[in-house]
Amino acid sequence: MASLPPNFQQLKQDQLQPFLHDEISVPADLEGNVLITTVDKIYNWSRRSSMWPLLFGLACCAIEMIASAASRYDLSRFGMEVMRPSPRQSDLMIVSGTVTKKMVPAIVRIYNQMAEPRYVVSMGACATGGGPFKEGYNVVSGIDKYIPVDVYVPGCPPTPEALIYGLMKMHEKVDRQSVVSVPWYQKDSSQFVPVPRLGPDIFDPRQVELIKDTTLKAATGAAAANGAAAGGAAAETRGPVELSAKAIARMEEAKRRWRAKQG
Ligand code: SF4
Repeated sequence: MASLPPNFQQLKQDQLQPFLHDEISVPADLEGNVLITTVDKIYNWSRRSSMWPLLFGLACCAIEMIASAASRYDLSRFGMEVMRPSPRQSDLMIVSGTVTKKMVPAIVRIYNQMAEPRYVVSMGACATGGGPFKEGYNVVSGIDKYIPVDVYVPGCPPTPEALIYGLMKMHEKVDRQSVVSVPWYQKDSSQFVPVPRLGPDIFDPRQVELIKDTTLKAATGAAAANGAAAGGAAAETRGPVELSAKAIARMEEAKRRWRAKQG
């Protein structure tokens, strides 16, 4: 075995202390080789040193996440290079990219399939709050509205360095946990997150009359403008655009559901 460097030998010598315990005897040849620590420290050290991320990406941020696993940034120094294709073998979900309404049910379902302990990192402006697509018709305003997030990494996109910094913060968070208080060892603590259901696009049913009026006015105005451009007479002949029976039925159904929810 290669000899230890002198400074390490000195460090070891400095840390040696007599083992003061009446009932436990340490054999002479083992003295100087006994390490004492706490269960929490060992538990947290082993857990954070082998955190396996789940392999999936949603949009451009995923490219930066992939770069962080390549040789230049090298996630394997944290024991994280094995990105798992199955939620059952993963304990870290990195939500990297734009979260669309269509994708949310799948993400929540995958989160539910991960075994405890499990952690979530929200990577980038999109995953954290919608990013440049906030208020878009198909994008949710943050994944934390559906699943609990442990660390947020800002940026559009965050660099691999930023992601690694976020992962180190994640490790620090794990280091602060205790087996006595972690939720997954508490009774009845298993948290199943309800899977959101895809349905008609989200809108506020209280505004339905306003939306209807505005839509009709816009449609009438556009028709008049088109008629005027085509010679004037056509503007008079075009009336307001009527909603189809199907659209009216869907609107009434939405209003009925909203009223029922309000009690
Ligand atoms: S935060 Fe920016 S880089 Fe990341 S997914 Fe959204 S638009 Fe793409």
